[in-house]
Amino acid sequence: MITFYNSLHHKQQEFKPITEGQAGLYTCGPTVYNYAHIGNFRAYMFEDLLKRTLQFCGIKVKHVMNLTDVDDKTIRGAQAAKLPLNEFTQKYKDAFFQDIKTLRIEPADVYPAATDHIPEMIEIIKVLFEKGIAYQAEDKSVYFSIAKWPRYGQLVHIDQDQMKSGARVSMDEYAKESVADFALWKAYDEDDGDVAWDSPWGKGRPGWHLECSAMSMKYLGKTFDIHCGGIDNMFPHHEDEIAQSEAANGVKFVNYWLHCAHLMVDGQKMSKSLGNFYTLRDILEKGYTGREIRWVLLGTHYRQSLNFSFKALEEARTALQRLDALKTRLKENQQVNDNNQDQNVDKLLEDAIENFKKALCDDLNISAALAALFDLLRELNKLMDDGKCLGVNAKNALETLAKMDTVLAVLEPDHDDQVPQEIQQMAEDRQAARKAKDFATADELRKKLDELGWVVEDTPKGPRVKKK
Ligand code: AMP
Ligand code: ZN
Repeated sequence: MITFYNSLHHKQQEFKPITEGQAGLYTCGPTVYNYAHIGNFRAYMFEDLLKRTLQFCGIKVKHVMNLTDVDDKTIRGAQAAKLPLNEFTQKYKDAFFQDIKTLRIEPADVYPAATDHIPEMIEIIKVLFEKGIAYQAEDKSVYFSIAKWPRYGQLVHIDQDQMKSGARVSMDEYAKESVADFALWKAYDEDDGDVAWDSPWGKGRPGWHLECSAMSMKYLGKTFDIHCGGIDNMFPHHEDEIAQSEAANGVKFVNYWLHCAHLMVDGQKMSKSLGNFYTLRDILEKGYTGREIRWVLLGTHYRQSLNFSFKALEEARTALQRLDALKTRLKENQQVNDNNQDQNVDKLLEDAIENFKKALCDDLNISAALAALFDLLRELNKLMDDGKCLGVNAKNALETLAKMDTVLAVLEPDHDDQVPQEIQQMAEDRQAARKAKDFATADELRKKLDELGWVVEDTPKGPRVKKK
C-alpha cells in the first residue's frame, strides 16, 4: 500500500490510481527567464523521488512538466536582453535540461511549452464563456468570475468575507488577501512589445494559470492522478487551475495534490525576488558535485522545510564516500569464488529492501529509507570484517544496492569523481610543490596533467582535478 499526504483533503491517504498499475503525474515546471535556483530544484527533486518510488512499486508513470515560456517575467527578461522571446527562453530551457541531468532527475515524458499551446488555452476560455463563468472586462482582458464558481477555495481555505468577487487581479502572482477574479486572457499592452496572439477577445496573451489546465488536460486527460509543486504554488496557481479545469470540464481535476515545503536560507524562502539564491551552477563552481547536491536535496522529508547549508554538502560528501567504499569492498569480495548462498545475508538483504520500500510508501519517508540503507551498510561491513559475504553473496548485496539506487540515484560517482590514481597523485604532488614554493615543479606537473587531458581547478576547498 502506498500512502501520500493529499493537500486536497489535509490527510494521508492510500494512493489508488485511476487505472491500475499506472499514474498520470503533472508537475509545475520552471519559468524560463533565468537559471533555476536550488530551491526550484528541491521541488523537482521531491517530484523525482515520488516518480521513482511509484516506479519502484511497479507503477508506470506518465509524467508531464510544463515550461512557462511566456509571462510577465519572461517578457521583461527578453526585452532587457534585446532578444525575441523564444530565443531568450531557449537559453534557459537548455540550461534547465542540463541541470536536471547533473542532478540525475529522470526526464518527464513530455515538456509542453506554453507558447505551443495557445489554441488549447483559447478553447478552455471559450467553454468558460459559454457557461457564463468567464467575462470580458472594460480593460478588454478576460477574467474568471469566482462568484460564479461556488467551489472556489478547495485547496486553501478562503474566508467568504475575503472573496472580493467582481474585483479583479490581472497579475499572475498575488496573495490570498487579494483573492479576486483572475485573468484568463490578458489584453495586449504596449509593454508586451511583439508578444501577442489573436483570440476571439482581441490581441493578447494567456494568464499563467491557464497553461497548466490546458496542458495537463491535453496530455493526461480531464481527470488525472497526481499534481505537484512547491507550497507557494497552492495559492493562487493551483487553486485557479482547479477552478478553470473543473468549471470547464464538469469533472474532478486531480485526485492527489502533493506539495513540498520550501528550501530556506537563514530562515527565509530561497527565491529570486529576495536575491538569496544559489543556482546549481554556483554550487558546482564551489567544487561540489551533482550527486552531492542531489543527496542534500533528497535527504529531508518533502513536507519539512530544508535549511540549505554548505555543512550539509560536506556531510553529503562523507556519506557518499562511505557508500562508495562499501561498493568497492563488495566488488572485491565478489571476485572470490564462493557459490554458497549465506542465509543470513539473504535475510539481511530482504529485510533491507522491505524496510526501504515500506518507508518510501509511507508518504516518501526518506529518513527511514536512508536508515534502512545505512543499517545495511553497517551490517555488510561487519560481515566483511569477519571474512564473510563473498562471491555470490557480495553479488547479491550489490544487486540490492542497485535496486535501492533506482530510487536514490546516488551510488554511481559523477565522472568528475572518477580521477585515476596516478592523475590524483600528480595533482597532489603539484599541490605539495606549490606549498614548498617550488613553482617550477608545480608548473611542470600542471603542464603534464594538461597534456594528459586534465585540469586542476583551485577551489576554496583545495585543488580539484577535472577532465578537460
Ligand atoms: P517558478 O519557476 O518560480 O514557477 O517555480 C518552479 C517550482 O519551484 C514551483 O513548483 C515552486 O513552487 C518551486 N519553488 C520555488 N522556490 C522554492 C523554494 N525555495 N523551495 C522549494 N520549492 C520552490
Ligand atoms: Zn502549474
